[in-house]
Amino acid sequence: MKILVVEDEIKTGDYLRQGLTEAGFVVDLARDGLDGLHLALTDAYDLAILDVMLPGIDGWAVLQGIRRAGKDMPVLFLTARDQVQDRVNGLELGADDYMVKPFAFAELLARVRIHLRRGTKAKESEFLHIADLELDLMRRRVSRSGKRIDLTAKEFALLELLLRRQGEVLPRSLIASQVWDMNFDSDSNVIEVAMRRLRAKIDDGYEPKLIRTVRGMGYVLEITE
Ligand code: CA
Repeated sequence: MKILVVEDEIKTGDYLRQGLTEAGFVVDLARDGLDGLHLALTDAYDLAILDVMLPGIDGWAVLQGIRRAGKDMPVLFLTARDQVQDRVNGLELGADDYMVKPFAFAELLARVRIHLRRGTKAKESEFLHIADLELDLMRRRVSRSGKRIDLTAKEFALLELLLRRQGEVLPRSLIASQVWDMNFDSDSNVIEVAMRRLRAKIDDGYEPKLIRTVRGMGYVLEITE
């Protein structure tokens, strides 16, 4: 799952990025309103966290831009100002939640998860499957043949993407945009390395093999005999 954070305070932005990344999310961080809106409109995010007071355009304007473009991802506001009028503004413009700084990261994370779950509940269950492999989205666990498999946050995100698009050959560029943040270096071999590790964990010692490399095209997750 990919989250956009728009926050100009360096420390808060870095803290959010680090915490959310450690919790298993892919995070893009913008430091001003225009960059934030640009990212929100050009990339696909599952949720956005916006500061109100931002250089360029403020958080309200970013939210308006997002909603005008027809994007309905949950948007959480983060602000130092705890004024009733702010809440009213935000909710009228289509914000989903509101948190006042300073906030406890655990609470933010809990709210992020609630909004993501609300967004997906109608569409899908909380488990993804192929063959005897199961991924539990909420508990963030993976098992094969009932045996628990420990994955890093990146490996989990990769497997989640492959499971959501199973049977489709996913090009590296798509994998990079969904699983890595905007600072991804496309000349590096990090995707290959992560994919090799993931494959060793979920396919070594099991049949059928699930992850396949399609030479010159990308990767596919499917049941191959
Ligand atoms: Ca600010």
